[in-house]
Amino acid sequence: MDVLDWLATALGEDAAAAGVLTTDPALLDAARTDRSGWVAAGTPRAIVTARSVEHVQVTLRAASEFRVPVVPRGAGTGLAGGANGTDGSIVLDVSAMNRILEISAEDQLAVVEPGVINSDLNAALEPSGLFFAPDPASRAISTVGGNIATNAGGLLCAKYGVTREAVLALDVVLADGRLLRTGHRTVKGVTGYDLTALFVGSEGTLGVIVGATVRLQPIPSGEPVTLGAIVPDVGAAAQAAARITAARLCPAVMELLDAPALERISAYLGRETIEQAFGASGGASYLLVQFDGPTADTDARAAAELLREAGGTVRVAADAEEGERLLALRRAFHPALESGGEVLIEDVAVPRSRMPEMFAAIERISERYGILIPTVAHAGDGNLHPNFVYTGDRVPDAVWDAAGDLFRAAIELGGTLTGEHGVGMLKRRWLAEELGPDSYELQVKLKSVFDPLGILNPGKVFGGP
Ligand SMILES: Cc1cc2nc3c(=O)[nH]c(=O)nc-3n(C[C@H](O)[C@H](O)[C@H](O)COP(=O)(O)OP(=O)(O)OC[C@H]3O[C@@H](n4cnc5c(N)ncnc54)[C@H](O)[C@@H]3O)c2cc1C
Repeated sequence: MDVLDWLATALGEDAAAAGVLTTDPALLDAARTDRSGWVAAGTPRAIVTARSVEHVQVTLRAASEFRVPVVPRGAGTGLAGGANGTDGSIVLDVSAMNRILEISAEDQLAVVEPGVINSDLNAALEPSGLFFAPDPASRAISTVGGNIATNAGGLLCAKYGVTREAVLALDVVLADGRLLRTGHRTVKGVTGYDLTALFVGSEGTLGVIVGATVRLQPIPSGEPVTLGAIVPDVGAAAQAAARITAARLCPAVMELLDAPALERISAYLGRETIEQAFGASGGASYLLVQFDGPTADTDARAAAELLREAGGTVRVAADAEEGERLLALRRAFHPALESGGEVLIEDVAVPRSRMPEMFAAIERISERYGILIPTVAHAGDGNLHPNFVYTGDRVPDAVWDAAGDLFRAAIELGGTLTGEHGVGMLKRRWLAEELGPDSYELQVKLKSVFDPLGILNPGKVFGGP
């Protein structure tokens, strides 16, 4: 009996009919990629679309028995090649496990299955005046389980925290099929090692998340206040962003676009858009800041003053409509890039005080390789997304060389080669460089404690050249 026969029997007679187990070539082909554009070589042998914890357990028991790799998958929106079904693997898709099991206003938490879409959870929470803070730009299409497995971040996370801060407890199916429960329903809880935190960001290499108890926060009161500033020099804009943080103004959103980014947006939306709003456009950078909560108005005015001191032309939105127009400039960034070709979105992070140096490094690397690198930074938390636009179906070597220099520059500045997208396949070759030999070795050993047979997402995160 081979693994598929075993699985078909164990999942039950109706599994194929109900679409739980499939070997449809078109579906297998689609599962070879995620939204990074990287396509795995070879073909997975099957996809299990789990509808229950038991389906996940059965799949992992089969994989252990037959030593077959399992690739956990949520919505497949990842940007690191983590969920891509590799040759001969079983892709374990948990996106159909998408129920919200509980919302507790008293305990400010929700209990969910892993496949619930981030924005569906927030829509369900709205009547209770609470929200799940992690807000990746993909929140309308990515799963909470995927957000947890990648420790996703977003625009709001400088103020409201990344996914790790929002996870209280997890249900995880281990490589051998056992169901493990980690963490607490309580606000506090320090018994034993923090296995919950270990699973957050583990990219499907330690276990399959089948349930999560997530922390909720009150939706901030009042209308947010938005301001935009054109600052002639991106270094000055980055310094101004750091000064806003140092002044303890705590914006909910603070996004910085450099000159190549602004140039693309301006070309995409029409040159007059930025000129009409600010009377300035080319050769400049754009800082978008939004405050929420009861002090939003006074905070926005204080931030505007700091931006003027940095030489910025500032507009504080008079109303929600104008605020939307300022936000729209930022939102146009990715469509503007995509209109020019394929896009590799990179993802480094540095301490906020070192952002001006990171922008300077990006400029140097851009000149060295003769490649434009339009960059947006979540300036509130020091996470920069340098982007490469290219043509063709694979990322050119020169782009990877430039990206490698970017990662090293970030690490030298005390930062990291990935702020929120994860390592997956695409960054594993640089992982040891950041971790150092001792940490790398310890992490490889840790993986083997959870996954002694090496069946969980093998080749992802670890094992790079
Ligand atoms: C337009 C766009 C914008 C984006 N913006 C952001 C952003 O602002 N911030 C950000 O952080 N990311 C962003 N991303 C990347 C991506 O959406 C996130 O990484 C997201 O958290 C992935 O969720 P997913 O459900 O699609 O997971 P998948 O892509 O399916 O999987 C991602 C990784 O998690 C693992 N995994 C998934 N589910 C489970 C599970 N239940 N148990 C164990 N492992 C699992 C997979 O094996 C894989 O390694 C963006 C992507 C796109 C396409």
